[in-house]
Amino acid sequence: MKVLVINCGSSSLKYQLFDMADESVLAKGLVERIGLPGSILIHRPGEAKVEIEAEIENHDKAISMVLAALTDANHGVVKSLDEINAVGHRVVHGGEAFSGSVEITPAVMEALKANVELAPLHNPPNIMGIEACTKLMPGTPQCGVFDTAFHQTMPAEAYIYALPYEYYEKYKIRRYGFHGTSHRFVSERALSMLNNPQAKVITCHLGNGASLAAINAGKSVDTSMGMTPLEGLVMGTRSGDIDPALIEFIMNKENLNINQMNNVLNKQSGVLGISGVSSDFRDIEGAADQGNKRAQLALDRFAYVVKKYIGSYAAAMDGVDAIVFTAGLGENSAFMRSKICGGLSFLGIEIDEEKNAKRGEEIEITKPGCKTKVFVIPTNEELVIARDTQGITKK
Ligand code: ADP
Repeated sequence: MKVLVINCGSSSLKYQLFDMADESVLAKGLVERIGLPGSILIHRPGEAKVEIEAEIENHDKAISMVLAALTDANHGVVKSLDEINAVGHRVVHGGEAFSGSVEITPAVMEALKANVELAPLHNPPNIMGIEACTKLMPGTPQCGVFDTAFHQTMPAEAYIYALPYEYYEKYKIRRYGFHGTSHRFVSERALSMLNNPQAKVITCHLGNGASLAAINAGKSVDTSMGMTPLEGLVMGTRSGDIDPALIEFIMNKENLNINQMNNVLNKQSGVLGISGVSSDFRDIEGAADQGNKRAQLALDRFAYVVKKYIGSYAAAMDGVDAIVFTAGLGENSAFMRSKICGGLSFLGIEIDEEKNAKRGEEIEITKPGCKTKVFVIPTNEELVIARDTQGITKK
């Protein structure tokens, strides 16, 4: 069985074609600048790289180019689209309607459209991607895999905001959480590495967007993002938790409208905002090494907030057996892992710096005998989407 995984953003699209016989990736790629000047498809069949510049005005065009590349006589990897048995889509917001992956049906599309209000930036491109595939590959089953689904097991005390309750009832304002596919994948791996399905695990997905999840016996019981991905940790360009009264204060002082304020909170804040250097932790670590004090402060603040969330989730679960680091920063920055774990000796954590320095593999980085183990586990959201899609469409 071959499964095409698609992740549609507002102006970009990532894809991977899996052969589920051995879960290998036959081809993958990226369409950038959809609807903008300079749009391009970068297609990678195996080790090769093919770049196709074209006017890619919308997601229909982007997906038709991807399908053409996958079936191309020279750089294609399948003879015809009939060889692609199913398509799995990443969908950002499933709201309360979806606690697991589903096959796309007209009723599911209705529910997805009803959720647009909850994620006005993310869900419309996801829907466009599904509609384009329906048009271009009629009859091929499609699945939706939701960033929010894994966190639907959170208890009410973890997801309710202390706002008038009627807002939850009328508008579904509550905490949902994101990165669920990644938290699910790495926590399942951690349970298997611990050989204990009942273990309490805290997963740290630290990429450009960042979130933590508290996972008790395989179920998400809390997570740091909220109704939107803005809540929680300090991120690349997002503020994370702030005093909500600051919003009016800053808008008045800087004479901003609400769109400009949202832009400040989502695009100009986080470690970029504090450091003034970059949103990329490699640049910030480099600048801090050169003595840049604001870059150092950004790293200090980032690590401090992650550490506090770890402490609060250990309290929420009455203990923690393992902490997992994943995603761009979590997988690659030994420095940041060490900095975050440095003050967690009360949890029985001592990092083995030799193991911590290793890259790109699933590994325990705590010294032998530590009460709480720390793992680095590379995430693979695309593989989860492909597996779910295979599981659902085979039935
Ligand atoms: P996203 O999918 O949210 O865009 P990723 O999970 O790909 O993000 O993570 C990207 C981030 O990971 C980059 O912004 C960068 O800050 C960080 N990163 C990647 N490699 C390293 C590294 N070697 N050292 C420090 N940070 C890194």
